[in-house]
Amino acid sequence: MYRITLIPGDGVGPEITDAVTRVLEATGVFFDWDVQNAGEEVYKNEGTPLPDRVLESIRKNKVAIKGPITTPVGTGFRSVNVALRQELDLFSCVRPCKSYKGARAIYETIDLVIFRENTEDLYAGIEYEKGSEGSRAIIELVQKLSDREIRQDSGISIKPISVFGTDRIVRAAFEYARKNNRKKVTSVHKANIMKFSDGLFLEVSREVARDYPDIEFEDRIIDNMCMQLVQKPELYDVLVMENLYGDIVSDLAAGLIGGLGMAPGANIGKEYAVFEATHGSAPKYKGLNKVNPLAMMLSGVMMLRHLGETEAAERVDSAIASVVKEGKDVTYDMKPSPDDPSAATTSGVADAIIAKMKK
Ligand code: NAD
Repeated sequence: MYRITLIPGDGVGPEITDAVTRVLEATGVFFDWDVQNAGEEVYKNEGTPLPDRVLESIRKNKVAIKGPITTPVGTGFRSVNVALRQELDLFSCVRPCKSYKGARAIYETIDLVIFRENTEDLYAGIEYEKGSEGSRAIIELVQKLSDREIRQDSGISIKPISVFGTDRIVRAAFEYARKNNRKKVTSVHKANIMKFSDGLFLEVSREVARDYPDIEFEDRIIDNMCMQLVQKPELYDVLVMENLYGDIVSDLAAGLIGGLGMAPGANIGKEYAVFEATHGSAPKYKGLNKVNPLAMMLSGVMMLRHLGETEAAERVDSAIASVVKEGKDVTYDMKPSPDDPSAATTSGVADAIIAKMKK
């Protein structure tokens, strides 16, 4: 019996969470869900979108699975997703992108794993509003130190990249490669322009690579990487990068394998792991029982593997592969046209996968 923190999230979160827990329970593995709500509604009722009880529950149970949570743009509370990663020091965001036969993938042979650093970079949350005391002080300091002018009406976000943060994410990527028989790690950066942040990321990547002579290492500049992923993704294996590039490249890679509906993820630290899909709360589809639960379900497969339930993980994964290949019981986003009247519902996909697992 596993006691797992379950965060249904908001938007389409609760409906996909329901589909996913039903499938995970159908494996025969016993789960005791510690349900913890967070997000928009909780903000209205409890004054914070991420109450301490949620963090305490994850600290106690060590493992959590969550639905997406809305982040208001520009105003309101800061991202719960980013706060969770920072509070629990979940420094590795692991996003596998594998094409399943039958999915509307651009290529059928993609098998990438993206390691996105989760705690630093422009996501560190060190920001100063235009005209604030902080931004004025930074503008003044920069002028004094470098004689470079920043316009007075600028908003400022700071991009910290440390040796410590880079070493542990690159090491996590190499460790993963070694454990999972992967051949190559590619470090992705823009070191030619940002010499002291991305330059450091590249230098530390090279140093860590020396500890793993059995695994090939190379680096790519981020813009070139994007083009290469679209043109020849089969050349790549494990990719490691800073937070912002990782955010963007994982959506790009999700597009290559058939969309966000198929892209799972895990946020992993030394002590805790939180599993969640790459996609967000898709608010316009809330309550319609329409969106694809497979991304969160595949995150559940990653969780089963993390718990050591390999056989159950394989069973869910092959049931998913077989439902996707048949192409009948899949949601609108996996049909040739999004208006296809034969598209399955969110709960219908779960029913089809459970039925396959019973065969
Ligand atoms: P989104 O991923 O929610 O949706 C973008 C579009 O992708 C949707 O309109 C839909 O067409 C498609 N899509 C997404 N998930 C799908 C699914 N499961 N099945 C089928 N189609 C799917 O991105 P967004 O609209 O930019 O963000 C909405 C909210 O989610 C924002 O508040 C954002 O901050 C938040 N968000 C949360 C997380 C998280 O919880 N980890 C991640 C990303 C975005």
